[in-house]
This record gives sequence, structure tokens and C-alpha cells, in this order.
Amino acid sequence: MATPGRLVSRLAVVTGGGSGIGRAVCQRLASEGASVVVADLNEASANETLKSLPRDLRGQAHMATAADVASKESVKTLLTSIQARYFQPPSVCVNAAGITLDNFLLDMEEDDFDKVVQVNLKGSFLVVQAVAQALVASGATKGSLITVGSIVGKVGNIGQVNYAASKAGVEGVTRTAAKELARWLHFRFGIRCNCVLPGFISTPMTDTVPEKVISKMKALIPLGRMGEAAEVADVCAFLASDDARYITGASLEVTGGLFMG
Ligand code: NAD
Repeated sequence: MATPGRLVSRLAVVTGGGSGIGRAVCQRLASEGASVVVADLNEASANETLKSLPRDLRGQAHMATAADVASKESVKTLLTSIQARYFQPPSVCVNAAGITLDNFLLDMEEDDFDKVVQVNLKGSFLVVQAVAQALVASGATKGSLITVGSIVGKVGNIGQVNYAASKAGVEGVTRTAAKELARWLHFRFGIRCNCVLPGFISTPMTDTVPEKVISKMKALIPLGRMGEAAEVADVCAFLASDDARYITGASLEVTGGLFMG
């Protein structure tokens, strides 16, 4: 459930905002009062998300833009266009962009391994680094950076050696960023960095999973169903807000209990 007004005066950038979890995050952050920058490789879908957002309470329009998280140049352009439009860096960042290119370990092509790592892991690094640099340069004393890992990064998954490796790496980026950005030498940046670990969430990414596999997965989930993108967005909104002001370096599982313990 949204908490109206909780994120008023926050500027948020959401990558992968054109679909699934990223779109739900944009909608939730906007419904809590944040100004939202929807960024996605697919500009048309980013614009679709933009159209679905409630009006910005501060009268600062939301914006949508094309961005490729796997490209340093593109991420830099994204931050520059945000600064040009809002005259400030985003104090909230949710990096939800991600891809899968599944295959068994014995058959995985090197190129498919590299592509997934490039978007999921290197993309998380590039986005977290660029937003953190912009926040530090602006003298900001608080910020909330949220990465999207996966429970698969913790437990592995058949057919997802590239994806599992990339998502395990995302947690490493997040925890290191949390340590460095909370305090650096004698400066206190107060920038929090946390990771959400979704389990099996109903989005276009999982739409292609065969019904047989879905039934098997559901049977393993203690809460007995797949999650909704909005349920991951709820957790992101919490982490973005001051309600999570004492949480940093955490990985929050949003799995319905799948693979707990
Ligand atoms: P999705 O496919 O619906 O959305 C992913 C979005 O990322 C798309 O809009 C796509 O265009 C965008 N994208 C892809 N490559 C990009 C790039 N290089 N730069 C910018 N944008 C790019 O998937 P989803 O299920 O909403 O997944 C969102 C995140 O959640 C991903 O990181 C995914 O790995 C993670 N996740 C999803 C599940 C699940 O069950 N759906 C589970 C665990 C983790």
C-alpha cells in the first residue's frame, strides 16, 4: 500500500522503468509524491510508464528517457539530462534494468554469459557509481540507492549460471557501496545502499516460463503464489523513504518465503 506524501520532494531515477518491476516502482514512488525519471533501453515503453504516473505533487513533471545501463556513456548522459532538467541529482535510485539469457552450464555461450553480466552486474555498478558521484559532488547528505538482485544470486538456479552470477555480484556491489557511501574518511555522506532480492514475480520476464515450471515453483513457495511487481515496489518505496533511515547494506528477500533459511 502506498503511503501518500512519504516521498514528496524526492527526485527518483528508475532504470528498467518501462516494464514489470521497474514500472511498478515508478508508479509507487510517484504515488508517494516523488518526481520520477523513467529510464529504459526501450524508450517507447518508458513513455508508456510515464503516461501511467499520477501527477507530481511538486508540479515538477516526471520524465522518461532512453538509457542503456550497460554503457558508461549512456549512464553519464542520463545523469546529465536529469541535472539539466531538475538542477539536482536524484536522491533515490532504483536500478531495476535486467535481462536473462538462459541456458544450461554445459551449453552456455560465452557471449550470453558476458551480455547478462554486462547489463545486470556492470549496469548496477555504472548506475550506482554515477548517481553516487553526482550526489557527493552536490554535497548531498542523504540518498537511497536500491539495486535489484535476485534470490537466484543466493541459491543458484538450473539454466541461469550467467544470471545467478550477475545477481550475486549485484549484492557485492551494493554492500561495498553501502560501506563506502555511509562514511568516507572523516566525511559522512549518509547515502544508503540496499538490494532487493525478488523471488518469482509475475512480469514479462517470467511470462515466457512454461506453465509446468510455474506450477513446480509455486509448490515450493510457502505463500503459495507468485509475487506481484507491486509487492517488490512496496519494498523499494520503503527503502527509498526515511522509514528505512537505519538500513544500509541489506539484502531484502521478497520471495513469499521461497528458499528461506
Ligand atoms: P522485465 O523484462 O519486465 O523488465 C526489465 C526492463 O529492463 C525492460 O523494460 C527492459 O527494456 C529493461 N532493460 C533491459 N536491458 C536494459 C539496459 N541495458 N538498460 C536499460 N534498461 C534495460 O523484467 P522484470 O521482471 O520487471 O525485472 C526487473 C528486475 O528484477 C531485473 O533486474 C530482474 O533481473 C529482477 N528480477 C526479476 C524477477 C522476476 O521474477 N520477474 C525475479 C528476480 C529478480
